[in-house]
Amino acid sequence: MKPIDLRSDTVTQPTPAMRAAMAAAEVGDDVFGDDPSVNALQERIAAMLGKEAALFVPTGTQSNLCALMAHCQRGDEYIVGQMAHTYRWEGGGAAVLGSIQPQPLPQQADGSIRLEDIEANIKPDDAHFARTRLLALENTWGGQVLPSGYIEAATALARRKGLATHLDGARLFNAAVASGMPAIDIARPFDSVSVCFSKGLGAPVGSALVGSREFIARAHRLRKMLGGGMRQAGVLAAAASFALEHHIERLAEDHANARALAEGLQGLRGVTVQPPQTNILFVDLAPEKAAGVVERLRGAGVLCTGLYRLRFVTHLDVSSADIARAVAVLRQHL
Ligand SMILES: *Cc1c(COP(=O)(O)O)cnc(C)c1O
Repeated sequence: MKPIDLRSDTVTQPTPAMRAAMAAAEVGDDVFGDDPSVNALQERIAAMLGKEAALFVPTGTQSNLCALMAHCQRGDEYIVGQMAHTYRWEGGGAAVLGSIQPQPLPQQADGSIRLEDIEANIKPDDAHFARTRLLALENTWGGQVLPSGYIEAATALARRKGLATHLDGARLFNAAVASGMPAIDIARPFDSVSVCFSKGLGAPVGSALVGSREFIARAHRLRKMLGGGMRQAGVLAAAASFALEHHIERLAEDHANARALAEGLQGLRGVTVQPPQTNILFVDLAPEKAAGVVERLRGAGVLCTGLYRLRFVTHLDVSSADIARAVAVLRQHL
């Protein structure tokens, strides 16, 4: 039997309909700005998120890096969560490639950084300090929707202090579907937003960065510098456009599947299930349960990641029947 792959929502296969859209895509050389499918995608995602312009990039990592480098100069710094993707999971790219100093700060259980902590870490204009230029937030964070009141307050603080704001919205549409708040409203308080097509939306490759026309012009130059100027990229952009058209509302199914998985694991001794808000479920194991558990589950046909804290991610290629089967396997092996 085919394993149930709950390691990540990046493992999805393009559907036959998506592949058909890719095969039919009109393409051109996007470095010359000639690819109609890329241009259409960029216009669509900019409009969906209420910004002037967008840039199609190969990965979310490159999208965030283009944003950080477009907001910050060499010797500037950005305020970011200690566990945020743009700080912890991107190879230190902002520092290595952008000469941008991160100012990581602790996050609360809901993913927020305390306003007092943000304010206390904005450096005065003094030759001793890096120039604090940017606040970077993430939504969803660990599958949780960042509270909208918090986003309003944090971005207002940033603006008052003269900082730009960036949202790593790799799973922005999960946040929108789970909260009922339109994506455009989630994006509104930010100067720039990055979204991934290759996660829950089910495209094989690609992310987009959105912002003002002037900001995206700077990011466009950086994308070229970082090696992200792709040629007949419309084949990929067509998959992303297809995903925006067909795969947003269905994220609710992934969220329901994550909840069903959580409910199915209730009542196991030494197993603590964090109630999922979107498509990511964390399960904490008592130490005596943890040894070799990922390998045992793999042997039984369920793939996940983690150690004491297992992570299960639902997506397009996991059905409710798969979830029922996964529950049975997990109840036997946890
Ligand atoms: C996946 C992800 C990214 C970027 O991922 P790539 O693998 O580079 O496309 C950025 N931020 C968050 C929160 C992510 O989950």
